[in-house]
Amino acid sequence: MILRDTLLEQNHSYEQYGMKINANKKKIVVGRKLKKIMSRTQQCKLPVSSVYEYYNNLYGVANNYTLDNYQSSSVSNYSDPDNIIITPEDIAFACKGIKVDTAPGEDGVRMKVIKELRLYKSLSLIATYMLRWGHVPPCLRRARTILIYKDGNPDILKNWRPITIYSVLRRIIERVLDIKLRSYLDLNLNQRGFMSGPDLKVKFLSDIDKLIRSAVKEIINIPTDTPDAMLYAPRRLRGLGVFKAQWEAYLQHLNICQRLLHVDNPHVAATRNLPNEIEHCIKQLPITFDCSERISSQKLRKALREDSFHQWSKLKSKGLGVVFYSHWKKGNSWISTKKGHSSSQWTQAIKMNCNTIPVRTLPGRTLDSTHCRRCDEQETLPHVLDFCHHGELLRINRHNTVRSLIAASIRQNASYEVYEEVGCVSSDGSTRRADFIIIDRQKDKGVILDPAIRFEMHEQQPQEVCCEKQVIYSISLVVSILEHNTTSHIGKFLGLCSVPVA
Ligand SMILES: [Zn+2]
Repeated sequence: MILRDTLLEQNHSYEQYGMKINANKKKIVVGRKLKKIMSRTQQCKLPVSSVYEYYNNLYGVANNYTLDNYQSSSVSNYSDPDNIIITPEDIAFACKGIKVDTAPGEDGVRMKVIKELRLYKSLSLIATYMLRWGHVPPCLRRARTILIYKDGNPDILKNWRPITIYSVLRRIIERVLDIKLRSYLDLNLNQRGFMSGPDLKVKFLSDIDKLIRSAVKEIINIPTDTPDAMLYAPRRLRGLGVFKAQWEAYLQHLNICQRLLHVDNPHVAATRNLPNEIEHCIKQLPITFDCSERISSQKLRKALREDSFHQWSKLKSKGLGVVFYSHWKKGNSWISTKKGHSSSQWTQAIKMNCNTIPVRTLPGRTLDSTHCRRCDEQETLPHVLDFCHHGELLRINRHNTVRSLIAASIRQNASYEVYEEVGCVSSDGSTRRADFIIIDRQKDKGVILDPAIRFEMHEQQPQEVCCEKQVIYSISLVVSILEHNTTSHIGKFLGLCSVPVA
């Protein structure tokens, strides 16, 4: 028994000891974090008197930018502003919008206390009294102000932003008054500071777009720096064709207005100015061309997506060679069908599509060096795909697969004789291998076909590759004729080029 007791006691003390260590560890971590934050935030070292003088001059002067008369709102519920009564319900409503853990003012009164004790009635009485007599109690006039450093020279007070925290009681009353006073005002549509309205709508739509973009990136597992223009480009041009709320909000509205115009109902015409609404919608869309009121939302969406594709192709690094995707649109079908790709291959292909695959020369992909992991060259995507010795076998395999696919499709036409990988000796004595020699016996003609897969770089690339191949085959003319015992006048051999497909 004694042994068990001592063991229990020991255990207990160990537990306490463990908790102490944990608490100490926590303290150290919190201390470190605080130190980090403190080192980042700068404290204003200017004397208090100069700070006081500066803000006194700035805010202590009467506002001259006022009108003689202010028009009152026609829809106001309050007939006489002198009889405003602040009810406990008003206070409770204002309290709802304030967080429980909001910072207290100098008096130390916390929001949690007001909400838990439901002090709405007494606060409503204080507020009504303040309003009637135009008096603010001294305790509600005191505030805590801190200066937060913005940018530039720290010795100039203009570069500091003052943040003032009043008592929570005052903040609640201000909120109630704000709600009450707004009902007396007819604000100009351009006055949008600290107000909800059209600006919020734009912000709301852009927030939705942000959410959609990050969700799409997370679902298909592509890097966060994938260009937005690629997400919105049409799928037939290898974009992802993602929904954009900022376009759709206006496109759908435009569609509705056009339908209503088409119906030609006198009641609708009397209540709404549809042509105006259509014009407004078109103005809100980032369209660079002039368009009539009758343009369909489908056409507009198509134009917007194509514009997005052009923006993508203009990007310096992520738009490299993108312009080629519009040359042969059938080659882009994999982006929507995923045909022939596994999920990971499809994701990798999308990354290569906009040059965000983790090769070392891309900014942010590696910290130590930009050199290739397998050789001494710079690790760019063209290097990995076309040059690095490490991927040579894969490259040969890719070449052979493409070659047999092309051969099979040419052989479907019975009049062609197709020879693959023909060994040649050129007229200057060097040996070469032509990918295809295709002979049409009936017409007594033949061609050398040499497909090349290159990484897309610039628009003149196909012509350049074509010239390169033509130069090679203009001297190896004789050879293939000898090897395959064909007729002596095969005609003109041409080095052909094809725009790379994938
Ligand atoms: Zn390499």
